[in-house]
Amino acid sequence: MVASNIAIVGAGVAGLTAALALAKQGHSVSLFESASAWADVGAGITLAPNAMRGLDYVGVGAAVADAGIEPTSQEVSHWRTGERIMAVDRSKTREQYDAAYVYIHRADLHQILVAACEAAGVKIFLGKRAETVTTEGDTCTIAFVDGSEAVVDLVIGADGLKSAIRQLFDPKPPHFTGHVAYRALAPATPEIQHLIDNPGMHIGPGKMIVRYPLRKGNLLNLVFFAREEGWEEDGWSIPADINELQERYSDWCPEVQTLLSVIKPGTVFKWAINAHSPLPGWTKSGRITVIGDAAHAMTPFLGQGAATGIEDAVMLARALADAKDTEEALARYQAARFERTTFIQAESNANADRLQGDEAENYGLGNLRNEETLGLFAYDCTTEPV
Ligand SMILES: Cc1cc2nc3c(=O)[nH]c(=O)nc-3n(C[C@H](O)[C@H](O)[C@H](O)COP(=O)(O)OP(=O)(O)OC[C@H]3O[C@@H](n4cnc5c(N)ncnc54)[C@H](O)[C@@H]3O)c2cc1C
Repeated sequence: MVASNIAIVGAGVAGLTAALALAKQGHSVSLFESASAWADVGAGITLAPNAMRGLDYVGVGAAVADAGIEPTSQEVSHWRTGERIMAVDRSKTREQYDAAYVYIHRADLHQILVAACEAAGVKIFLGKRAETVTTEGDTCTIAFVDGSEAVVDLVIGADGLKSAIRQLFDPKPPHFTGHVAYRALAPATPEIQHLIDNPGMHIGPGKMIVRYPLRKGNLLNLVFFAREEGWEEDGWSIPADINELQERYSDWCPEVQTLLSVIKPGTVFKWAINAHSPLPGWTKSGRITVIGDAAHAMTPFLGQGAATGIEDAVMLARALADAKDTEEALARYQAARFERTTFIQAESNANADRLQGDEAENYGLGNLRNEETLGLFAYDCTTEPV
């Protein structure tokens, strides 16, 4: 028999998408989140067509596209000269993939998913940090840090990079990847209007800057990536010194200096990029599994972390709808997802090397390998065999 009483641990993008998909299929879904309240944290996120297809499937694609921005082009520029190395036409992306490509504020995406989960009858419990899970016969018991327990038929670990559920599969903590991201949101001003209207990146040796608009173009999302050692923490609210950032990019082109000049002191946050190596397996006792960063946290250089979490959520729900029992569903889910996510983890690392090479002017010459040319956008989690 397929599990009817399902617990999801972690209410990030992956957990919320899975909760919504499963509640819509008629399962009783409880979602346990360690944070005690929803907060307006985070910055921008890119939702590629493969992610938006999953969000369309669970019924929130139109609301997400409405709250976000669909770019019509993206440019790649040289770090020192500022010259445009290449431009990607995105004006036909929605038509080509039958799914949008969207920039959105994470808090807006989160809010849309939470509202949809509530409307679908998902029971959401805040302030519930899972510690571990034990199984006996057909049931799983989640032990929470506050001493309480929940007994269910299936546990889905969607608790991110530092997942407690992943610990049941592999006790190793995430590793530092050698990259740090400095993030800022700059309010729209006339001097950066052309950079808001023309999203893209500046690339150079060991560093790159990604920019795109959010909230109807009122904000510019900025991420300054740099390879550096000695500091390995991640989180949304670790402050960084704007002067340090200005120093690191002092020899970059005038456009970059303009970007640095509009960031207000006290609004830069730093985030060391940590990731996991692939797990040997994603299912335990036929009743526990993992999705999203808990399963395959990766570097962000293909913009596919949340996208693959959304794909996992939809594929797992479809496996549970189709299989004869939970064990079979989890085995089918793992078989359908492992190779793709392992490939994307590896390519994401390789893309950092391609984007941050010594000769930015040669980027993409001959054999351009990025999220689109690798075929990642074409993946359809709503029809892919599972
Ligand atoms: C700089 C940067 C830029 C990125 N840009 C993109 C992008 O453009 N596109 C993209 O697709 N991806 C991007 N990513 C990756 C993306 O942010 C992650 O892959 C995605 O957010 C992971 O979602 P998740 O739901 O698996 O985990 P999370 O978002 O980490 O959610 C996990 C949730 O579980 C909760 N939790 C943790 N432990 C417990 C516990 N023990 N019990 C209960 N709850 C718990 C947490 O509070 C959290 O709410 C980027 C990442 C970075 C660092």
